[in-house]
Amino acid sequence: MTQLIIRDIETIIVDLPLRRLQRFSALAARSQSLVVIRVQSGDGVVGIGEGSIPSGPWWGGESVETIKTIIDSYLTPVLVGQCATDMTTLRARMDEVAFGNSFAKAGVEMALWDLIGNTLEQPLHALLGGKVRDSLAVAWPLATGDRQQEIDEALGKLEAGEASAFKLKMGAVELKKDVERACDVTLALREKAGVRVDPNERWTEVDALWALPRLSEVGVEMIEQPLPRCDLDGAVRLQARSPMPIMLDESIRTTRDMLEAAKKGAGALISLKLMKSGGIVNSRAVADVALAAGSALYMGTFLESSLGTAGNMQFCSTLPQLPLGGELVGPMLIADDITEEPVRYVGGALQLPPGNGIGVRIDEDKLAAYRRDRSRSAIAMGSSCAQAPASAGAGA
Ligand SMILES: [Mg+2]
Repeated sequence: MTQLIIRDIETIIVDLPLRRLQRFSALAARSQSLVVIRVQSGDGVVGIGEGSIPSGPWWGGESVETIKTIIDSYLTPVLVGQCATDMTTLRARMDEVAFGNSFAKAGVEMALWDLIGNTLEQPLHALLGGKVRDSLAVAWPLATGDRQQEIDEALGKLEAGEASAFKLKMGAVELKKDVERACDVTLALREKAGVRVDPNERWTEVDALWALPRLSEVGVEMIEQPLPRCDLDGAVRLQARSPMPIMLDESIRTTRDMLEAAKKGAGALISLKLMKSGGIVNSRAVADVALAAGSALYMGTFLESSLGTAGNMQFCSTLPQLPLGGELVGPMLIADDITEEPVRYVGGALQLPPGNGIGVRIDEDKLAAYRRDRSRSAIAMGSSCAQAPASAGAGA
C-alpha cells in the first residue's frame, strides 16, 4: 500500500432546512447547521466527516463557526503532510495544538477514518473490529411542547410504522405543567410505544424527587440527565430512589468522566456521542469503561445529517450492547440531504449503509446549493438560533 499522506483538508459550513421547528430550552431551530470536512490524500482519495451541533454553542461551547475556524487555523496545519493511518499520532497532534474542541476533532477523525476505509476498500466497521448489528432502533423526538400535537405526531409515526419509541424533551417550562404534559403523552402511547424523557440538566434534586415517581407511575421507561452535568452525587442519590434507569449524557464526555461516574455508581445508562467525546476512538474508550462498570450503552445524537449519521452508525454497529437503541434521527428531521444516497430507515430503525468507509458520498450539487453564503451568519438568516420562549428540543 502506498503511504496515505494527507494532502489537503477542506471545511464547508452547510445550512440545511428542518422539517419542523425544533425547540431547545431557550432556543429554537428551523435549520441544522454543520461543517462538511473533506480530507484528500496524495493519491487523490477523499474522506468525508461532519461536525454538527444544533443551534450553536449552548450544549458544549462549540458551534459550526468555531469548528471551521479551529480546523482551518490550527488542526489542518499539523495534519497536512502526515500519514492518515498514524491515527494515534494525529489525534495527539490535534490535542497538542487545541485544548477541548471535541466536535471539531471528531469531524476530522471521521474524515480520516473514511479516507482510510476508501483507500483500503473496506467499510469503517471492519476497521473498528467488526459489526455486531446491521440496524439501530431509534427513538423519535417529540419536541414542540404542545402535548396534543406531540400525541398526534407520535400516533401518526406509529401508524406509519416509522417509530417504536419516543423521546420527550422536558425542563423548559414550570415543573408541574411539564410533568402533566409528559404523563399525558406517555398515557396516550401506553402499550403502543416506549417513552423516554430528557430535561437536559434543568431540574434540581428536589424537582426530580417529586417528578420521578409520577413519571414512573404512567410508564416512562427512562430519564436522561435530569440534574446538572457536574452533580454525580445527586445522580447516585436519585438512582437509588428511582424505579426507572437514569441515563447520563452531558455528565459523560471523557473516560475520566466515566471513571468518576463508575466509582460513584452513577449512570445505569450512558449516552455515547462521537462529537462530545472527540471522535470514534475516544467514544469507544468511554464505552469500554462504562461496560466494565456495568452500565448499559445508548447511541445519542446531535442531529447529524446523513453524512455524520453514517459515521455514527458505523461506530455503533460495533458496540456489544445497546438495549434501548439510540436516537440517530437527524436525517429524518432534516428536510433535504447532501449525500448521493441518504441513510435509510426501515420500521423506525436506521440501517447500516453498505459501501467503503462511512458508506455515503457527497452530492456535489446539493452541497453547492446549501453551503453557507459567507456574507451571512446563521443568526442573520433567522434560521439556526431564533429566540423562543420554548420548551424542548430533539437530540442533544
Ligand atoms: Mg441528552
